Amino acid sequence: MRFITDIVNFPNIELGLNKDMPRKPNPFSDNHYDVIIVGGGMVGASLAIALLPLTKAPYHLNICMIDAFEHNAQSQPSYDDRSIALSHGSSLIFKGMGLWDELQPQTSPIKQIHISDRGHFGATRLTAKKEKVPSLGYLIESRVLGQQLYKTLAESNIEQIIPAGVVEVIEENDRSVKLIVKQGDETIALTSRLLVAADGTNSKVRELSGIKTTVSDYQQSAIIANVSTQKPHQGQAFERFTENGPIALLPMTGNRSSLVWTHKTDNGTDELDAVMELGDNAFLEQLGEAFGYRLGKFTKVGKRSCYPLSLVTSDKNTAYRTVIIGNASHTLHPVAGQGLNLALRDVAVLSDLVADLTANKIKTIPELLIDYEEIRQADLKNTIRYTDSLVRLFSNDNMILGHARAGGLLAVDRVTPMRKWISRQSMGINHRQSRLARGLALRVSS
Ligand SMILES: Cc1cc2nc3c(=O)[nH]c(=O)nc-3n(C[C@H](O)[C@H](O)[C@H](O)COP(=O)(O)OP(=O)(O)OC[C@H]3O[C@@H](n4cnc5c(N)ncnc54)[C@H](O)[C@@H]3O)c2cc1C
Repeated sequence: MRFITDIVNFPNIELGLNKDMPRKPNPFSDNHYDVIIVGGGMVGASLAIALLPLTKAPYHLNICMIDAFEHNAQSQPSYDDRSIALSHGSSLIFKGMGLWDELQPQTSPIKQIHISDRGHFGATRLTAKKEKVPSLGYLIESRVLGQQLYKTLAESNIEQIIPAGVVEVIEENDRSVKLIVKQGDETIALTSRLLVAADGTNSKVRELSGIKTTVSDYQQSAIIANVSTQKPHQGQAFERFTENGPIALLPMTGNRSSLVWTHKTDNGTDELDAVMELGDNAFLEQLGEAFGYRLGKFTKVGKRSCYPLSLVTSDKNTAYRTVIIGNASHTLHPVAGQGLNLALRDVAVLSDLVADLTANKIKTIPELLIDYEEIRQADLKNTIRYTDSLVRLFSNDNMILGHARAGGLLAVDRVTPMRKWISRQSMGINHRQSRLARGLALRVSS
């Protein structure tokens, strides 16, 4: 049985995280935590690392992260074959978390974006030089990011319960939420003052917390693969519009490029299935025909994966003692490259608020949840609306839209036209900049 009440009915008597509470040598032994993060994907693991300074003196926050898969398991859904374009803003967040110096050498800088329309003359170029930034974005393989996140976590005092899945969320009392977790044959009960759901698009915690979602099927799928080309990419990213959907090529290490090839599926998946089933040589040939030969011929393709694309949004991001972040809160079309970048801003704001709670600047968890909803509202709404509009319009034969889309794909916060577009959308809305988003470490004050 579970009892989930809405936050408005919840008595506002939380005293905040108690820094004087005695700590046991093994925090898992009493199964009680200050923060439990469900989901150790790119977003949950990033949050755990962002909160690391609070696990040390004077606060000694007791934090636990649960995931259904080991980070290097074949079936781990977050650290798969995809590559992620990180924006400059995300690089600042990783810098604030103390990770960027180690991550950056494992990324490929995007020096130029070339946008073209198949069957039309002309192309648009965005360059890092023209934009006066060191890079328009940074490409990282999600597996590489996962390895770095888990290396950092292994050296931390954050408890990991992996592999394990959450099966029940129970509103226990006005001080904690109870989780029932299955690990193999064992059923474990855990309690926490704050519960964070970072368990992806089909979030179990979101469902158990009674948060409703809206799903909009784009009737498109993306084929993802790493490809090699005859000519070196020299840090160039490409966006090419074709009748069947856009093709993005993003520069990777080792002169490979990360391919995101979108296919319409409104008339069924036969065409998509046929492309997926092609032998490597036939696939490379068909890709060449669709993309063109700016980098010469495509010479090699790695494992192909296929993602059906839809927009999933949540009615709200908090309930009782729970915050939902990342894909659990919003799953976007990948072509605009916003999903993780947006989620890292969830992480940055939430960790700032938890720091405020530990320092008693915020008194209660209900107060924290209200602040979180309020602070995140504008950015979430604008980024979701912006991405969705681009997706719905990008099949349009319009180079201006193409330009906008590529800017969004790689560096919405650095490319001037996009920055202006976004800031116009945000006008009049008070947007608090978290410390991490400014590249600063979390403030730990006693
Ligand atoms: C093809 C593709 C390309 C993309 N490119 C970009 C890009 O260039 N830039 C960008 O910013 N974003 C990009 N994205 C979006 C990005 O991948 C997502 O924003 C990101 O993966 C969200 O991470 P997450 O941790 O919230 O969710 P997920 O990655 O789905 O991770 C969820 C985690 O929760 C765990 N879990 C699930 N259920 C349970 C449970 N019941 N109990 C315990 N654990 C559970 C899973 O094992 C997993 O580890 C792309 C997405 C796709 C599909």
